[in-house]
Amino acid sequence: MQAATIPIEATSAPVAAECDVVVVGGGPAGMSAAVAAARNGASVTLVERYPHLGGMAAGGMVLVLDDIVDEDEITVRGIAQEMIDRLEAMGLAVYPPPEDRVLSEAAWEKWRRWGAIDFHQPGEIKPIVYSVAFDPEGWKTAAHDMITESGVSLRLHSPFHSPIMEGNRISGVVCHTKTGPEALLAETVIDCSGDADVAFTAGAPFVQGSYLVTTVFRLGNVDTDTAMAFDRQEPRAAYELDREAKRILGGAWEHWWLLTPLPGIVWCNAPHMTGYDGLTPLDQTAANDEGRRRVAELLEFARQRIPGFEHAVLVDVAPQLGVRQTRLIRGDYVVTKDDVVKRRHFRDSIARGRGYYTPYRALLPQDTHGLLVAGRHYSVEPDAQKLSREIPPCMAMGEAAGVAAAMAVDTATDLRDIDVATLQGKLRSQGADPGDIPSPRATIDGTALVTTP
Ligand SMILES: Cc1cc2nc3c(=O)[nH]c(=O)nc-3n(C[C@H](O)[C@H](O)[C@H](O)COP(=O)(O)OP(=O)(O)OC[C@H]3O[C@@H](n4cnc5c(N)ncnc54)[C@H](O)[C@@H]3O)c2cc1C
Repeated sequence: MQAATIPIEATSAPVAAECDVVVVGGGPAGMSAAVAAARNGASVTLVERYPHLGGMAAGGMVLVLDDIVDEDEITVRGIAQEMIDRLEAMGLAVYPPPEDRVLSEAAWEKWRRWGAIDFHQPGEIKPIVYSVAFDPEGWKTAAHDMITESGVSLRLHSPFHSPIMEGNRISGVVCHTKTGPEALLAETVIDCSGDADVAFTAGAPFVQGSYLVTTVFRLGNVDTDTAMAFDRQEPRAAYELDREAKRILGGAWEHWWLLTPLPGIVWCNAPHMTGYDGLTPLDQTAANDEGRRRVAELLEFARQRIPGFEHAVLVDVAPQLGVRQTRLIRGDYVVTKDDVVKRRHFRDSIARGRGYYTPYRALLPQDTHGLLVAGRHYSVEPDAQKLSREIPPCMAMGEAAGVAAAMAVDTATDLRDIDVATLQGKLRSQGADPGDIPSPRATIDGTALVTTP
């Protein structure tokens, strides 16, 4: 049955800011987009609905950066690497040194509980790769520092409400704040909301995707040395307890608990729950209820049965529900699973992930002007997004979108007409890897705009 509707009175909004670029969403993609646009000369306003930056990397407590490498080649650099350097300087990032990035039992035992695993490889023991465990408060601080140092005007507590449209061209956004609506005018808007909030309301086509949702949580007071020794010394018993823990959680990856830079505190990328729409309040509430119930049961079980967890306490359930996939925009190119799996190279590649390449066209929503998207809602098939949505590649996309937006403003060029070779050159000279140079493992064929190496 169609829900009843009521008319809502039109209102007006004071213009709170006029700038070159407005970025909506301060997660990994949005922070990178805002910093890159500002460093490339644009005046930038970044709006975020929550009281801090970070998105899933902070409020969602997703605490391992992966998909930074294609086997032993580092594929995501630039602002993502700068973030890692800042976290490391605070003592809040841990990753395996180059000599430990190997396939060996010793490396596996040392690093698997840090999540630094090439989990796409088969086998009981997987290669150890460059992945980074970090702290969410550290992320908030580093992101805030990068934003303020680059001169971005930051507006927290500013939920995006609606786009300001002139035909099919966006010229700003309205945020609903405690003081009422505020209009922010811009030449270019970058949607980094993760759910394509801006592109969707601007009328851009999209597909409705969905995937697992998770109430990520952290446990404290865990004797991690004892827990890991038990894993090693009594693998059969450890396996049985692990299986029971995963049954209670209702779904988890291979390791349901991982180490963090904080002693005695582990993070749990679980429970994995299906059948919830990551956009609707009722489904989000129900997922939160189910997740908290499973977490409480797991804690009780772990205290009673798992060596090292006897005195464990619940530190926190992530304030933000872990939503992996909702709307995916339809852009000038839609990345397919085949593209991702075969590492298909595109002449207009502007970002890389594990091995795959992201074409600039996948950031341009169809039928809409003045708007770029970057992050987990980019133009990609749902099955392909599951393999290409990790934090570092989202940051690489954001960085590229920021530089592209600044270029468009600077040269008074439509976003669709900017010179992509210049964009790639700028990204490379600023420390990023846009993927303009295909790796020997890339697929180069006639189905995409391919590079002639
Ligand atoms: C449970 C879970 C586990 C994961 N595990 C890993 C992992 O181990 N390693 C890894 O690298 N990646 C992992 N990922 C994927 C990764 O976290 C996300 O894909 C990534 O954070 C996407 O970045 P983003 O900036 O596109 O979106 P998000 O991180 O979702 O950020 C979007 C930002 O926009 C803001 N926003 C949204 N709507 C509005 C609005 N209307 N107005 C204003 N602001 C708004 C949000 O508050 C948020 O700050 C995981 C994801 C989940 C959910």
